[in-house]
Amino acid sequence: MAKKAGASESPEESSEARLVGGVTQSDEERFDRIFRPGSLDDFVGQEKHKDNLRVYVAAARKRKEPLDHILLSGPPGLGKTTLANILAKEMGVKLFVTSGPAIEHKGVLTGILTRLERGDILFIDEIHRLNPAVEEFLYPAIEDFRIDVATGDGAFAESITLDLRPFTLVGATTRTGLLTKPLQERFGVSIRLDFYPPEELERIIERSALLLGLDCDREGARMLASRARGTPRVANRLVRRVRDFAEVKGSGKMDAHIVEMTCERLGVDKSGLDEMDRRLLGILIEHYEGGPVGVETLAAALAEPRDTIEDVYEPYLLQQGFLGRTPRGRIATRRAYEHLGLDYRGERGDTRQGNLF
Ligand code: ADP
Repeated sequence: MAKKAGASESPEESSEARLVGGVTQSDEERFDRIFRPGSLDDFVGQEKHKDNLRVYVAAARKRKEPLDHILLSGPPGLGKTTLANILAKEMGVKLFVTSGPAIEHKGVLTGILTRLERGDILFIDEIHRLNPAVEEFLYPAIEDFRIDVATGDGAFAESITLDLRPFTLVGATTRTGLLTKPLQERFGVSIRLDFYPPEELERIIERSALLLGLDCDREGARMLASRARGTPRVANRLVRRVRDFAEVKGSGKMDAHIVEMTCERLGVDKSGLDEMDRRLLGILIEHYEGGPVGVETLAAALAEPRDTIEDVYEPYLLQQGFLGRTPRGRIATRRAYEHLGLDYRGERGDTRQGNLF
């Protein structure tokens, strides 16, 4: 049902390589299809947002109108693409999928927009990465369903207005802060997805285990949920790895023992942090005395793009209180020192904090 218009490398993709090195994209896509909930009822958690979306869908269907434009934001792997798919299904329309960096120029966007039927959904992932000329070109398309297309060259250049069939734009972003105000304001609905609490992840894990035909007990699911970084995508990947270990090293069942063994092998610790998280905190503490240190410096020290640090690693470390943000950069918190078994050198941090104001 979904049509892909262009592809691109995103910070999410590098995070994929991270937990399960060597897994090909097609493998990831195959399992995505198995795990992806097909309706709002199947989509676990995020109850408040789901309730609202049900109302918007019912109202639009009743009025026989397209859905209003929707902005979905939040860290990678929390269900933005899944929700776009579900909305298309619930509205009974087609979904076109693309991403900010894939729309290189206005021509690409014109090609996509003119193919949309009335009510179709255009999903633009990483919408904050649209180039400014394309973004401006998008404004009249989403506001009045028309675009101005240039024809001819030089003295013969002309601009003609094309009417589009009313459609719905669903934009997804990991960073609302990078979205321009005019673009943000053009979305009638804005939904921010947060990390999932362990109870919801537990339900996602049980559901995924069932879909894979993997027997799983409560304790195993609960333990895995506490290690999945509040993120369904991570939970699903871990389920697949647990299945491997359960089949080869265990009795074929996902229990606490197998979960523990799998996580240990993958370097995922009790707080759900993996090697990269611990490296980030370790560098911050050992090379920069706990900070504050700018994100560029951290990125260089870790040999990772800045976007990856900000989109993939930091949100969970911040949410869990391992990392703090100050106007002068990132700092390691007491919890980070304790987690790595290091002495907390808090005084210096406190003094620095004091000097800031
Ligand atoms: P995003 O677009 O935010 O990066 P995705 O929509 O691709 O995230 O979700 C990643 C994976 O997690 C998919 O396989 C999806 O099926 C699963 N998933 C995400 N949210 C949920 C949810 N609420 N319930 C069940 N599975 C989910």
